[in-house]
Parts: sequence; C-alpha cells; structure tokens
Amino acid sequence: MTAADRRAEIAAGLDSVRRRIDVAARAAGRDPAAVALVVVTKTFPATDIRALHELGVRDVGENRHQEASAKAAELADLPLTWHFVGHLQSNKAGAVSAYADLVHSLDSGRLVRRLSAGAHVAARRVGCLIQVDLDEPDNHKGRSGAAVADVERLADLVGQSDGLVLRGVMGVAPLGTPAAPAFATLAAVAEQVALAHPGATIVSAGMSGDLEDAIAAGATHVRVGRAVLGSRPPLR
Ligand SMILES: *Cc1c(COP(=O)(O)O)cnc(C)c1O
Repeated sequence: MTAADRRAEIAAGLDSVRRRIDVAARAAGRDPAAVALVVVTKTFPATDIRALHELGVRDVGENRHQEASAKAAELADLPLTWHFVGHLQSNKAGAVSAYADLVHSLDSGRLVRRLSAGAHVAARRVGCLIQVDLDEPDNHKGRSGAAVADVERLADLVGQSDGLVLRGVMGVAPLGTPAAPAFATLAAVAEQVALAHPGATIVSAGMSGDLEDAIAAGATHVRVGRAVLGSRPPLR
C-alpha cells in the first residue's frame, strides 16, 4: 500500500469513529466536543501517527513502554499528548514518566510511588488515572485495575505524590458481558473520586467495540485503536 493509500484509509477510519462519537454524544444529550478521542496506536508504525497528526489527532495511546518511548522520541517534533493505557510493570513505571502525559493504568500504591519518583527525576508533572477493575469478583480473568474499595485510597495517594496530578479514572469493560453496567459502576466511582478531588474529572472508558455505551455512561475520553487504524497483528 502506498503512503497516500494508507493515509486515505486512516482518514476514513477516523471519520467513521468521529461520526460514531458525535451520534452517541447527541443521543446521550451530551456535547460531542466533551468526548476526547485517544487513538490507540500500539503495534502501528510512527508513520501512521504522523498521518493521524496531519488529520488533526493530538491524543495518542500506547500500551507498552519500549514501543511507546521509541515512538515518542521519534515523533518529538509533533505536539502530541501521549497516553499510556496499558498494564504498567513496576520496573518500567519510572521510565514511563519521562514521556507520558497521562497514565491511565495506575492500580497499585507501588506503581504510584515508582511513577512519582520517575516524574521527580524527569522534572515533569504526569497526569494520572486510577484504573478501576470492572470485572465481577467471580468472573475475574486477570484483568488489571484496582478494586473499587481501594480506589479512594489510591486517589488520595496520587493526590499527595510529588510530580503526579490526579485527573480521574479509567476502566475496561469485562469481556463477554454487557458493557453498560460496568461503565455505570465506573461512572459512580468517578463521581466519588471527583467529590474528594475536584480536578479529577476524566472518565476514560470505551474502545472500538463499546464506545457508544461508554459515552452514554459519561466517558470523557474514549480509547480507540482498530476502528481507526484497522486490525492489529495478533499479539504474541
Ligand atoms: C488496545 C487498547 C484499546 C483500544 O482497543 P481497540 O479495540 O483497538 O479499540 C483501548 N484501551 C486499552 C487499555 C487498550 O489496551
């Protein structure tokens, strides 16, 4: 495929997702401009991110530290906001704070401490979302996220941590069950967090398959990969 063909393909994907966001927001009585699109570019090359930038995208998401840091370095000339959406290993958390603007996946005190130490070393302020585990306890398939009961404690810890700014919460709907109840749980948790931390207003929820449910439940950020960029090669 030529670069122009790929760009046209990305433009079409982007158009269709922007339309879906628009329709879902209006259906929920919300302003479409209140829903930010984070394009999840994991496994796709930096050239795709350049094309996205030309098409007006400013928020990109990655889920692996090595890949994310390489792309952020290669694209340092672009005014992009880098979202880290994947599971964070604690030995990588410090390094992520060197380039990530918003980390969506904080789910333990240990990660908060590592990220804060990294932000201090990098002399940066890193936005943080607490990832909430939305799986039923008896349906747990090893997804990440803090238990609902632990979110407040983690939010307070982020709020007190050097170099970190608590911005809200994030969730991934469990596989194989309807997404709406999970997103309703996330919305309720988000409301509690925002009561104690008035600046923490982000609700990151919704992917290619369930962004409409997420927007109906109040998502302020949707994280969309395949519906914009096409299918990814299977992960190893
Ligand atoms: C990959 C990923 C997405 C995007 O998923 P798509 O199905 O490609 O839209 C969103 N959130 C997280 C945490 C991801 O890892």
